[in-house]
Formats: sequence, structure tokens, C-alpha cells
Amino acid sequence: MRLEGHVGIGMIIAGVVFLFYPGNIYDKMLWIWFAAFIGMISWPDLDLRFELSHRGFTHTLAGAFVFGIVGGFLFGLSNNEYFLSGFIGGFSGTIAHMFGDILTYQKFRPLWPLSNNNIALGLFRSNDRSINLLFGRIGIVVFISVLVYRTLIR
Ligand SMILES: [Zn+2]
Repeated sequence: MRLEGHVGIGMIIAGVVFLFYPGNIYDKMLWIWFAAFIGMISWPDLDLRFELSHRGFTHTLAGAFVFGIVGGFLFGLSNNEYFLSGFIGGFSGTIAHMFGDILTYQKFRPLWPLSNNNIALGLFRSNDRSINLLFGRIGIVVFISVLVYRTLIR
């Protein structure tokens, strides 16, 4: 899946999180999570740039843990209190990334090291332009609608 598709799925998930977030949506911790989550959602595909095997370690549960640690340190550097939000953001961003990739064809091992199962549903090609754009647009509409709803109504 491409960047806009990953960000779109991330915005849909973030919309659900913001909708049901029990606290105030102006909560700083929520926004730190959001920044790490959306900011790092395409990081697993850095494997393409560094010529690692594509959809290898960066597309696993263990990879998600590493990106969580990185997110924790990135955001924790400015303030220790942000470490946990940064960690959860990096971790859940990688999980959301893998969720998007599972819908496409190239198989990988999302649950490694807990499971060696090679999974992909093959619903569409990862570089399908219209589907990636569709996810991107739905994501923006969902997220903005939730923000408006939570700001004005609830
Ligand atoms: Zn990927």
C-alpha cells in the first residue's frame, strides 16, 4: 500500500480513537499519540530505501516494538511525560501499517516472533492508485468529521 493509503487508514483509525476517547480531545497526550501514530505510519516501508528485504522485519510485531521505542525516545526527548504516548504511537502506527498491507498481495509475517504465519488477503494491488486515493480521502473526511463532532457537539 502507498503512503496516501496508509495515512488514510490511519486517519480512519485515529477518527475512531478520537470519537471514543474518554477524556478531553484537547488532551496533549492524545495529540502526541496522534503525531507519532500518523507521523510514523509509513516508516515500515523505509525497508525499501535501505535495501532490506521488503515486508521483512519492519513489518512484524517485533518491528512494531522497535518503532514504538523509537517513537518513545523521539517524543520523550522534549519531555519525559511524552515517552509513553510516543511509544504507543510508533507501535500502533506500525500495526495500522501492517493492517493496510495485509489487504494487498505480497505476503509477510505480521505476528513474528509469536507466529511464523505468512499472511496477505490479496484484495487489491498495493500500488492501486484509485484505492489508495480512496482510503486517503475517506480518512480525511472521517477524521475531520469526528473533530467537528467532538468540538461542537460532544
Ligand atoms: Zn508496507
